[in-house]
Amino acid sequence: MRIGIIGAGQLGQMLGFAARDLGVECLFVDPSVDPPAAVCGEVLQRRFDDRDALAELAASCDVITYEFENVPVEALRTIEGKVPVYPPAAALQHSQDRLDEKTLFDRLEIPLPGYYRVDSRADLDEAADALGLPMVIKTRRLGYDGKGQFVIREAADFDKAWDAIGANALIAEQWVPFDFEISCIGVRNTAGDVAIYPLARNVHEAGILRTSRSPVDAPLLAERAEDYVCRLLDHLDYVGVLALELFVCGEELLANEFAPRVHNSGHWSIEGSETSQFENHIRAILNRPLGSTASVGHAGMVNLIGEIPGAVRSLDIGVLHDYGKSPRPGRKLGHVTVTAETAAECDKYVDIIERSVT
Ligand code: AMP
Repeated sequence: MRIGIIGAGQLGQMLGFAARDLGVECLFVDPSVDPPAAVCGEVLQRRFDDRDALAELAASCDVITYEFENVPVEALRTIEGKVPVYPPAAALQHSQDRLDEKTLFDRLEIPLPGYYRVDSRADLDEAADALGLPMVIKTRRLGYDGKGQFVIREAADFDKAWDAIGANALIAEQWVPFDFEISCIGVRNTAGDVAIYPLARNVHEAGILRTSRSPVDAPLLAERAEDYVCRLLDHLDYVGVLALELFVCGEELLANEFAPRVHNSGHWSIEGSETSQFENHIRAILNRPLGSTASVGHAGMVNLIGEIPGAVRSLDIGVLHDYGKSPRPGRKLGHVTVTAETAAECDKYVDIIERSVT
């Protein structure tokens, strides 16, 4: 049994480790030199849209998956008929365009912040009339970790925002004064069985995920988030792991975005769940029974961004995951996960790790 994985970054690496534990081999495609997943499988060093590389993957693998959402959909479609590709290309397509994604949320009656399509400088003014200020404008495609975003708070920001990203197709969104952010991760196998992980509470800084903690003691929110994730999984006839990020405003949940892949806010599940998101993704695409998504105590995850300080390596708490990437400002190089019997103890450990990171 062999899985082809498009992308060989840290998500590919963690998928590769999970596959190895299940006795399954992985073959990756990635243009980078010595990417993180090279430690757990052969890597075809080719572009993600290299048709020959994808054809080779299709010919030598039983199923194909991907670890990031900017894989060109057209490239994926060239191999779809030859070998199963999961998650389905339609899910990838929706997630690649923020307008398309929001239209899908609307169609599935998943609540979301007000939004407005922006194709011209004049549309920006109309968006402000419709949504009010502050609002955030985002590139519809290829934005991640807060990149390609601009918050408009006052009149002087309009031209600055337009100069910064106006060359792209844009979307404007209401700025949400949320209480906190959560994500809900679900998994569905080819038989249609679904399992949902407990909620994670996430903290972002400058658009980048810093910490995740799970579970969250909010049964009503968990029930709603689970319902929204199930709507997406069913509608898309989805196979694999899907992550939905939401803003919490009182008892209301507003969808921000979904990712058709394993997700950074689910890394805690390696130590903090009976079955990690990575193992369940592999199980789902191979149509094996899904593993239990029950928590093992309370888990907290701290991302290591830009560098892995020596102080983190010498901590006697937590499990350090070093992706083996070279340091660069803003780059996710690893993470640390702690588990504890109580939420208070978990918070204490997360604080200790955060102090050693800053
Ligand atoms: P995104 O790339 O859209 O997930 O945005 C990254 C982060 O920016 C989110 O996790 C939030 O912390 C913040 N953010 C994005 N959009 C909004 C919004 N409409 N209102 C408030 N905060 C936002």
